Amino acid sequence: MATALAITVYRTHDDGDRADADLDAAFQDIVSVDRAMSLYRPDSELSLLNVRAGSGPIEVSESLFDVLSTAEEFARASNGAFDVTVQPLVELWGFYRFEHAAIPPVADIEQARGGVGHGRVVLDRAAKTVTLAPNTRVDLGGIAKGYAVDRAIATLAARGVPAALVDLGGNIGVLGVRPGGGPWSIGIQHPRERRLLGRVTFSAGATATSGDYDRFFEVDGRRFSHIIDPRTGWPVEGVAAATVVAPTAMAADALSTALFVLGPDVGTKLIASLPGTAGLIIDPDGHVVVQGNGDIQFELKSD
Ligand code: AMP
Ligand code: MG
Repeated sequence: MATALAITVYRTHDDGDRADADLDAAFQDIVSVDRAMSLYRPDSELSLLNVRAGSGPIEVSESLFDVLSTAEEFARASNGAFDVTVQPLVELWGFYRFEHAAIPPVADIEQARGGVGHGRVVLDRAAKTVTLAPNTRVDLGGIAKGYAVDRAIATLAARGVPAALVDLGGNIGVLGVRPGGGPWSIGIQHPRERRLLGRVTFSAGATATSGDYDRFFEVDGRRFSHIIDPRTGWPVEGVAAATVVAPTAMAADALSTALFVLGPDVGTKLIASLPGTAGLIIDPDGHVVVQGNGDIQFELKSD
């Protein structure tokens, strides 16, 4: 998944030996999601599905089907701002390899857009099949990390782990009660400076951050980041980072990408409409808009 992973497991002292096995089990979950859903692997289930676009219904695994149906749910909720069919645009803009990171010809953008649209993925739950329209390809980079975190957390819970934290590239899921009590407290990276912008605290669920500072290129002082507005075919400009807290890591992952695309006005309305969900969005000048929710609290530093 081209990112960093940290798994933290808390066990009582007399149970300490089991923590190693817990870490292995959780790690296996992440590995299996990577094997199935990475586009960096030509033999992943997702890569094999993409090459069969336009050739009728394809049977897929339960996990791939679940992620695709959740992706469809968030595509609808966000009016297409979150859309896993952006793959041809991500490829055209060079975000898989950064070799030819440059503004593509307008005609190429229009051509790639022809394959984009969440209605071009047809899911049949009873048959567990997926049909991709011709020229349509799926990129789960905006949601699969969250799914992997949820799987790892579920495995740790099933093994009786009392408390744990899984961080896959800023997609962070928590389990149980933090040792010492009180809510979980997660630092939010400043998008332009090497310091924390603040913290978010919550008692259960997950958080995810989408930023323009890890994967981007610049042309004439304009910054083009790896998150693309499927409605225009262009990378989003004017947003530096979006953080979401939600009941599951998969929801937080999809929604942080959606909030990044939708921007503060529409984005915070979407977040406010969802139970147990809160968000924060920051522009390149450091202006922050927060949409809180119940016991989910954002604490921002004033400097
Ligand atoms: P994230 O870091 O979770 O916001 O995901 C960003 C990744 O999701 C990108 O690197 C692309 O692979 C993919 N992506 C880009 N734009 C979108 C979009 N509008 N909807 C869904 N996935 C996207
Ligand atoms: Mg995401």
